[in-house]
Amino acid sequence: MTQAVPTVPLLINGEWVESRTTVWRDVVNPATQEVLARVPFATAEEVAQAVSSGQRAFKTWRKTPIGARARIFLKYQQLIRENMADLAATLTAEQGKTLLDAEGDVFRGLEVVEHAANIGSLQMGEFAQNVAGGVDTYSVLQPLGVCAGITPFNFPAMIPLWMFPMAIACGNTFVLKPSEQDPLVTVKLVKLALEAGIPAGVLNVVHGGEDVVNALCDHPDIRAVSFVGSSHVGKHVYQRATLAGKRAQCMMGAKNHAVVLPDANKEQTLNQLLGAGFGAAGQRCMAASVAVLVGEARAWLPELVEKAAALSVGAGKDNPDLGPVISCAAKERVLALVAKGLEQGATLALDGRNVQVDGYPKGNFIAPTILSGVKPGMAVYDQEIFGPVLIVVEADTLDEAIDLVNANPNGNGTALFTQSGAAARKFQEDIDVGQVGINVPIPVPVPLFSFTGSRGSKLGDLGPYGKQVVLFYTQTQTITQRWFADAASVGQVNTTISL
Ligand code: NAD
Repeated sequence: MTQAVPTVPLLINGEWVESRTTVWRDVVNPATQEVLARVPFATAEEVAQAVSSGQRAFKTWRKTPIGARARIFLKYQQLIRENMADLAATLTAEQGKTLLDAEGDVFRGLEVVEHAANIGSLQMGEFAQNVAGGVDTYSVLQPLGVCAGITPFNFPAMIPLWMFPMAIACGNTFVLKPSEQDPLVTVKLVKLALEAGIPAGVLNVVHGGEDVVNALCDHPDIRAVSFVGSSHVGKHVYQRATLAGKRAQCMMGAKNHAVVLPDANKEQTLNQLLGAGFGAAGQRCMAASVAVLVGEARAWLPELVEKAAALSVGAGKDNPDLGPVISCAAKERVLALVAKGLEQGATLALDGRNVQVDGYPKGNFIAPTILSGVKPGMAVYDQEIFGPVLIVVEADTLDEAIDLVNANPNGNGTALFTQSGAAARKFQEDIDVGQVGINVPIPVPVPLFSFTGSRGSKLGDLGPYGKQVVLFYTQTQTITQRWFADAASVGQVNTTISL
């Protein structure tokens, strides 16, 4: 007898409930095509129930003492650590990345949970005495109300953890809409959050796609929307949510250039290019997907190709260098882009399109693929490939490389490889990109700082985590106060304190 495929529940008002929808989608293991679960596309009524549950819970949660809020996140980080192996295994099964990468995905989210436990020192106001004679002004950062989060498939642990812990620690309630492609690890993380003590209604989960996202953007009781995902959806979410009067922060697509100067340490640079270009099968918003070889560094291409050809491909649970891409559709899209690149004149320096993995005949595998001789205007340069395809562009000088990066519509991440401090300083100052690495290939900031992005990679001025997100998830209230010491009335009511 075959076992029934489990369904993924919604979380409304502290209860895990089965959706009443008629629209479902399979959650599929990308290495095997095994159906792991079925995820519902929640109905409009269910979305409304999740929001009103958050609205009710906000009345008490907003007044919960800072220490009580912080202690939940102290407990939560401990529970995540204790469950790391199970979380990573679930993530690998549904998303495809290697177990090591899956642990990294959980760990980078765990760091934000630790940051949320510091909320006492993050959510502090300001005070100025005697702004006029006998008048003081102070400000407080008040929670907003119900906030919503919409997350992508590529970091199903880290990105939900960028959002709800900080929003809730600030005193808000939350409705989370995980990626419909891999919601299982997100649901496990939410279960642990409830176990850590998050009260009923403070955190709610709805599943779905476009309709659910639109309902969240439109709902009058949602005050702020955090989105991470592709540029075209992010732009839509930003416009729709802000039109409905909400705050929105949208972190979007990328085309990250790794600029290699000939004075860089060759061995380290080439190894870092491999990890940043092909790790997680290139499905990172911070993947270094364009290598810009400057001047004599052009001669390093054959060695880069040789090293890339030696990377292993397989099912994530076996910890190869890279696993499959998320879906059959994603594989087809990547292969179509490579074909288009060749049609438009790129050279296939390494062909990973026909890789076979023993024991996994149905997996969505693509081995490392390198296209050289790429130029702006070709589809492989102009579009985000989001697969294990590294494109190689050449430049004569650092200035030319900087102009190339700044002319790209995206400004998510970039890196420079050099041993020259002067070149590094010039690059940092002149480059218009959010995350800049100097000899660091994937410069994702730790939560003491905020994630950011420039130009087409970000909409909204405040980024996730760090100090910025506390401002995003709160409303500043300023209070100006004056107390009169009226001698006559003090005498009448006899409030004199005798010592
Ligand atoms: P996606 O935009 O397809 O999906 C993101 C979310 O939007 C999902 O929850 C999905 O259900 C929802 N969605 C999809 N289509 C929609 C529509 N038409 N209307 C409303 N909502 C819709 O992104 P993805 O493929 O899951 O993730 C990959 C993308 O995310 C890449 O472009 C990557 O660069 C980007 N990303 C960016 C960052 C960053 O911080 N800048 C981080 C991770 C991923």
